[in-house]
Amino acid sequence: MAPVFPALTAEQKKELSEIAQRIVAPGKGILAADESVGTMGSRLKRINVENIEENRRLYRELLFTADPSIKDSIGGVILFHETLYQKSRDGVLFPKILKDLGIVVGIKVDKGTAPLAGTDGETTTQGLDGLAERCAQYKKDGADFAKWRCVLKISDSAPSSLAIYENANVLARYASICQQNGLVPIVEPEILSDGSHDLQRCQYETEKVLSAVYAALIQHHVYLEGTLLKPNMVTGGQSCSQKYTPQDVAMATVTALRRTVPPAVPGICFLSGGQSEEEASLNLNAMNCCSLNRPWRVSFSYGRALQASALSAWVGKSENEKAAQEAFVKRAKINGLATLGKYVPSGSSDSASSQSLFQPSYTY
Ligand code: 13P
Repeated sequence: MAPVFPALTAEQKKELSEIAQRIVAPGKGILAADESVGTMGSRLKRINVENIEENRRLYRELLFTADPSIKDSIGGVILFHETLYQKSRDGVLFPKILKDLGIVVGIKVDKGTAPLAGTDGETTTQGLDGLAERCAQYKKDGADFAKWRCVLKISDSAPSSLAIYENANVLARYASICQQNGLVPIVEPEILSDGSHDLQRCQYETEKVLSAVYAALIQHHVYLEGTLLKPNMVTGGQSCSQKYTPQDVAMATVTALRRTVPPAVPGICFLSGGQSEEEASLNLNAMNCCSLNRPWRVSFSYGRALQASALSAWVGKSENEKAAQEAFVKRAKINGLATLGKYVPSGSSDSASSQSLFQPSYTY
């Protein structure tokens, strides 16, 4: 029987599912370039560049005007509010530059985390007030998908039931509002890698969190075919004494996803979560080579692991722009190959790409 109160029309569903499919077309993933002003400040500080609007614009222009071949490995780019309205030095709005390449434009719509009182430092994510209006405006201004990040952590008493259910519900409410306004929601319940827990504990908690997220999405009548999931990979904690191979990570991650993510979801785009550029590429590649059947596309939505080498090459100097663009294009291509399970490391990976990008209690 058809639902008595359908949430979306057939046309709305078609549009949403087509957007999602374009973002995760074979060989493609997402560049997360939606660092807030504060997060961008800490990135720029490390290369001694002042955190002013013009420097943020220059850096984003460098990424978006890299070799046009990035369109073969980057299906979508997530922008921060400020960046959606910035222009290249030639006066072209950034969303237009991306759309002309066939890249789908996304926008971060959450307003950061807020503490959940009475928990071990756990949080929920804010930004529901006025969200429908903001989504409608962003759609008019060229965005076709959105991102909302929820953060969970593993400790003796976390993730608590309160944090799991509160974050699942807020993600579902956000997803429903996005879809009503023609934006594909990226659903991001990130479990931080801070801690000494092992791979098994991370798998257990990831399954618990994801199953709550999908229960909530279904309860809120979210159209799964018009969503993308952005989860953490299942890894050992940052200070876990045991080391795991990409194959270990791939088996644990794909097992957790197969148990919890419905096949109706078109794509899973991992965050890099402090892994080095090379580690993030090798883990993704291993997942796409693993023997377990995967009913969704398994891809990337990396921030740090797509930009670290580019930022180090740039250091704010115009004469380094080309080198920075080359570094970005290189990582984009490698991750594109990893979505197909076709990345073969050359054996000469530079030290920058192997450097951990971990920051404790990461905020975005
Ligand atoms: P990292 O890939 O740097 O973890 O960040 C991606 C992101 O968009 C977090 O919301």
